[in-house]
Amino acid sequence: MAAFFSKIDLHSHSNASDGSFTPTQLVQRAVDRGLTHLALTDHDSVGGVKEALEAADGRINIIPGAELSATWNNQLVHIVGLFLDIENADLKKFLEKQKEIRIQRAVAIGEKMERQGFKNAYEECKKRAAPGASITRGNYAKYIVEMGRAQSTDDAFNTYLKKGKSCYVNTVWGGIEEPVKAIKSAGGVAVLAHPRRYTLTNTKLRALIEDFKMVGGEGIEVASSQMKPDDRVYLGELCRKYDMLASLGSDFHNVGPFRELGLNLILEEDLKKVWSVPAALKYNF
Ligand code: AMP
Ligand code: MN
Ligand code: MN
Ligand code: MN
Repeated sequence: MAAFFSKIDLHSHSNASDGSFTPTQLVQRAVDRGLTHLALTDHDSVGGVKEALEAADGRINIIPGAELSATWNNQLVHIVGLFLDIENADLKKFLEKQKEIRIQRAVAIGEKMERQGFKNAYEECKKRAAPGASITRGNYAKYIVEMGRAQSTDDAFNTYLKKGKSCYVNTVWGGIEEPVKAIKSAGGVAVLAHPRRYTLTNTKLRALIEDFKMVGGEGIEVASSQMKPDDRVYLGELCRKYDMLASLGSDFHNVGPFRELGLNLILEEDLKKVWSVPAALKYNF
C-alpha cells in the first residue's frame, strides 16, 4: 500500500528535547515535505518554539506546543498541549517545575550510566542537545547507540533504559490535572498523546480518558505514524464515545524506518478535528 502523507502534523521534537534536528532544520524538513502545519511539541519545554516560528518565515504554520509528562495510576502518560501562549505565566511556572524534575532524573540516569562504563554521560548528552534542552531517555538512547553499545535506540531501551534495566530511574511525575490546567491557562488544548503506547487494558484506557476529560482534557491523538490500523479505528471510536477532539502526530524525532513527518496520519471524516477549536483560528487551517 502506498504511504499516505498528511500536510498537518501536530506532534514533533527538536533538539530542545530528544529530537535530532534543530527547530530550524525541522521546519525546513516540514517545508520540503509540503506540510502546511507543524506543531513543535518538545518534552516539557517550549524552548524551540521561537526559533521554529522564525524559521517558518511564512512558508508553513507553526503551532506552539509541548509534550508534558505526568503519572496516572503509576503509568507514565504524555499530554500534548497545542496552540499555546508560550509567555503565559502559569505555563512557565509549570515548565520550570518539570525542568527541575527532568534535571534530577537525567542526573540520576547519568550516574547509573557511569556504572555501566559511560563516562560523563549526562554532560555528553547535554552537549549534543540545544542549550537548556530537556534531557530524556531518548537523548541517552542516542548516546548509547553512538558509543556502539546498542544497535538502535530501541535496543538501547531494551538493554539499559526501560523499567527493570540497569539505567532505569523511576520518576514520579505529578498527576494529569496540573499539566492540563497549565495548557488551558495558556489558551491551549490538551490532547492525550499516543494512547496505545501505554501498557493499559482497554478498560483502564477508558478510565484514563474519563479522568483526562474530567480535569479538562479535550483531545485524543488518534493517528500516529507507527500504529496498527485497528488501533486507529479503536481510538476514533473512543473519540466519538467520549465526545473528544481528534488529533494526529508523527512524534518525529529523527530519520528512521517508518518515521517521517506527516507519515500515515489519517483521521476519519466524521471525527471532530482538534483544529476546529477557536484557539486554532489564527493558524490558518
Ligand atoms: P523520558 O521522558 O525520559 O521517559 O523519555 C521518553 C522518550 O524516550 C520518548 O519520548 C521517546 O522519545 C523515547 N522512548 C521511549 N521508549 C522508547 C523505546 N522503546 N524505543 C525508543 N525510544 C523510546
Ligand atoms: Mn521523545
Ligand atoms: Mn510521548
Ligand atoms: Mn513525543
